Parts: sequence; structure tokens; C-alpha cells
Amino acid sequence: MKAAVIGAGIMGASAARWLARRGHSVQVFDQHPAGHELGSSHGASRIVRKAYPDPFYAECMADAYPLWHELERSSGTQILHECGLLYFGDSLSENLSTMVEGLSDLGVEHQVIDPRQAQELFPELRLHPHEVGVWTPEAGWVAADAALGATIELAERDGATFHYGSRAEPQALAKESDVVICCTGPWITETVELPVTITLQTFGYVEGNHGGPVWIEDGLDLPYGFPSEGKAFKIGVHRQGPEADPNSALRQPSSEFVDIIRRCASRRFGIADPNIVSAKGCLYTNTPNEDFLLGRFGENGFYASACSGHGFKFAPWIGRLLADFADGTDCPELYSRFCTG
Ligand SMILES: Cc1cc2nc3c(=O)[nH]c(=O)nc-3n(C[C@H](O)[C@H](O)[C@H](O)COP(=O)(O)OP(=O)(O)OC[C@H]3O[C@@H](n4cnc5c(N)ncnc54)[C@H](O)[C@@H]3O)c2cc1C
Repeated sequence: MKAAVIGAGIMGASAARWLARRGHSVQVFDQHPAGHELGSSHGASRIVRKAYPDPFYAECMADAYPLWHELERSSGTQILHECGLLYFGDSLSENLSTMVEGLSDLGVEHQVIDPRQAQELFPELRLHPHEVGVWTPEAGWVAADAALGATIELAERDGATFHYGSRAEPQALAKESDVVICCTGPWITETVELPVTITLQTFGYVEGNHGGPVWIEDGLDLPYGFPSEGKAFKIGVHRQGPEADPNSALRQPSSEFVDIIRRCASRRFGIADPNIVSAKGCLYTNTPNEDFLLGRFGENGFYASACSGHGFKFAPWIGRLLADFADGTDCPELYSRFCTG
């Protein structure tokens, strides 16, 4: 089969890898150079976790999680850092109780801990007396740049060809290919009409050195963070940022969000005047309920819009699913949760 993949972010690269290893002829096109920072897949780290309070995503993750180990084995590269996840917030928070209920129903390993236990687990992090944490050990972070690099390398090893700086026209490719897979991230609406909003998200590196798990603070802003990389640690803000045009070359981090990061570093790590070593912007493709969108377009096309800030951890699984759609061994109609209706 002759397959064309549009987009060499983590979703397109993963689809290309699965298609190539099954012996298909695969051409991948990306409008920007390799390693560009204008889409959604760049950077050092992404949170990965088995624990989703929503049983649908937890079931998908049960399939997806082992594929990170598989990518590590096949590439001989360390990609998954399993340091656990601490989700914390007010003990009366509805989000927290829904999460605990969901994890209990699904039998996902977890523990609800008080501030004292949290401090034993993560000495640098400060929880307030009215707060609790939900600890899930099967979680951590994937090295995003390394994961993308390894996926592309394996796809190339199996014969896929990547063309960078090459803007693809889906209709033209559809005529000369048996199947077209569109994984264009924030540019998805240029090919398929979908109810998505593109926002500019901000993350920053704060000077400081600590280990510990990855963490998410419950609340409106939903800041999250990682253990230090060298002398600084990353904090991001999950709350949707300002709307953005993916075709603009600007990815200027929002000063409001940099302030949120600074305040979070003070509140949680006791740093009086946090030094933000660097701050960057990255695009989210948001759906109204944070569900991914997967489906068909044209006569021989399939697309995946898997973002809303939580897609990376599913990438090898989504890539395999897209390859199954292309092979005809599975079809998007069986995944009604991912269809727009
Ligand atoms: C700040 C931030 C933090 C995140 N944190 C997490 C996290 O902790 N955990 C998690 O699981 N997920 C997280 N995510 C989400 C995750 O990173 C995304 O779901 C994922 O990277 C989306 O990948 P993609 O391949 O769909 O899109 P992209 O990486 O944007 O790739 C799309 C590619 O398509 C190319 N393209 C577009 N149109 C064309 C065209 N016509 N022709 C050729 N090429 C084209 C673009 O140049 C681009 O390279 C985060 C995202 C951001 C922005």
C-alpha cells in the first residue's frame, strides 16, 4: 500500500512508524524543518500516566502505556521516566473525589495521602493542611524530543521517507496514494472542519534542583511540573491560554501565565523570588470536552486530532490505530467517543 502521512509531529511519526513496519510504502511530509518549535510535540518532557478518572481514557491508556516500553526496547533509548504522579488539591475538591472514585472503580493502583505523607514522598513540595494528594506510581514523564526522534528513526529504518519544509496538499496526495493520514495538529482545520480552538500555552523553567514525581495542582489554572533537568525545573499551566493562529511565527509566552508559574513556584516550593530561566509557548488544539477527534476525510483519508493538552502519552497507540484504519482492520466508526457526530 502507498501511504502518505501529513505532519511529522508525534502523531504523524507514530502512524508512519506502524505503517512502515507493516511493509507499506510511506512518505511523510512536514511543512517545517525537523525539530521545529511551532507545533505541539517539541520540548523535553510530557506527563504520562495510566490513571485517568474517565474509564474510557484509562482503558485506552492500559493499551498505550506498554507501547512506551516497546519504543524504548526497539530504539535502545531511555524515553519513559517512571517517577510517579502526585495530583493534589483541596480535600473537598470535586475533581479529586471524582478522580479517586474513578481510580477505585478501575482498580488502578493509587493512594490518597495527607500533607505529612506527601512531604515524605516529595520533601520540596508544600501542601497546605486542608489539602490532600492522590499518588499514582504508574506514571511519570516521557522525554518528548527523544520519543519523537526515536519514532522517526525507527520509521526510517523500516523504509519511511520524511520530507521536511514541504507543505502537503491532501487532495493532491489522495490522488497519488492509496491512503492519506492527516496529523496536522493545530493546522487540522485546514483539511477537516472540526470544532477545535487553538490556544497558546506557556511553560517555564524555574531555577532550582529537586527530584520527586511529576505533579498537578488541582484548581482553575491547573499548573503541573516535572523534576529538575540540571539546575532548573519545568512548570506549565494547563488552563487554556489566549487563542492563537498557528500560521503566525510568534509563540511569545503569555506574561499572565509566566506570573502564574512564578506564584506557583513560590507557593509550592517556597522560593521567595523565583528566577524564571526561560519561558516558551506551545500550541494546544482544544476540543470542547477535551476528547480527541479521529475520523475519515475524503475518499481515502483518515485524520487524528489528539491534543487538548493530553495527547502525547497516547501517541504510539494512536499511530497504531491510524495504521489499523489504513489497513482496514479497524475503523473510526467503532470509536464513537472520538467522532464529532
Ligand atoms: C505546552 C504543552 C504541554 C503538553 N503537555 C502534555 C503532557 O504533559 N502530556 C500529554 O500527554 N500531552 C501533552 N501535550 C499534548 C501533546 O504534546 C500533543 O497532543 C501532541 O504533541 C500533538 O501532536 P501532533 O503530532 O498531533 O501535532 P504537532 O506536533 O503540532 O504536529 C503537527 C505537524 O503537522 C505539520 N503540518 C501541518 N499542516 C501541514 C501541511 N499542510 N503540510 C505539511 N505539514 C503540515 C506541522 O508543521 C507539524 O509539524 C502538551 C502540549 C503542549 C503544547
